[in-house]
This record gives sequence, structure tokens and C-alpha cells, in this order.
Amino acid sequence: MAVGWAQDGAVQQQIDASVADAVKLARERMPKGRSLEHCEECEEPIPLARQQAIPGVRLCVACQEEQEKEAAFSLYNRRGSKDSQLK
Ligand SMILES: [Zn+2]
Repeated sequence: MAVGWAQDGAVQQQIDASVADAVKLARERMPKGRSLEHCEECEEPIPLARQQAIPGVRLCVACQEEQEKEAAFSLYNRRGSKDSQLK
């Protein structure tokens, strides 16, 4: 019986550890600090709902989309040049 309890405890500890890791990881991915009231790029006001939905938001919707497009584009380019090096 004592062994059974010890095993249960060990499993629970493993579950706790992985949940703690997942929470830590999610927190690290979140933007840090206070949301800006105005966009860092174009200085348009950022809607309050957006500020509250995305803690630490720095860009308006338009600039955010622009940045994501550029990020996707540079990723594509990097993959493209890597492929050409392999040939
Ligand atoms: Zn903007």
C-alpha cells in the first residue's frame, strides 16, 4: 500500500512539473510589459479592446499584419536560399 502511494505521488509530481513548464513557456511567449495606447509604427490609437486582449501589444492591427507578412516573407526567402545552396 505504501509503495502504491509513492508511485501515485511520483506520477502526480511529473504531471505538476509538465504543467508548470507549459505555463512558463506560455508566459515567455507573451509580449512583456504594458500595452501601448498608440501604435509604435504609425502612432494610430490602438483600440482599448485590442490593448486588453493582447497584453504588451505595441502595434495597431494594420502594422501587426504588415509585420507578420514581412516575417512570413523572410522565412520563405531563408528557406529558398537554403534550398538553392543544397543544389
Ligand atoms: Zn500602426
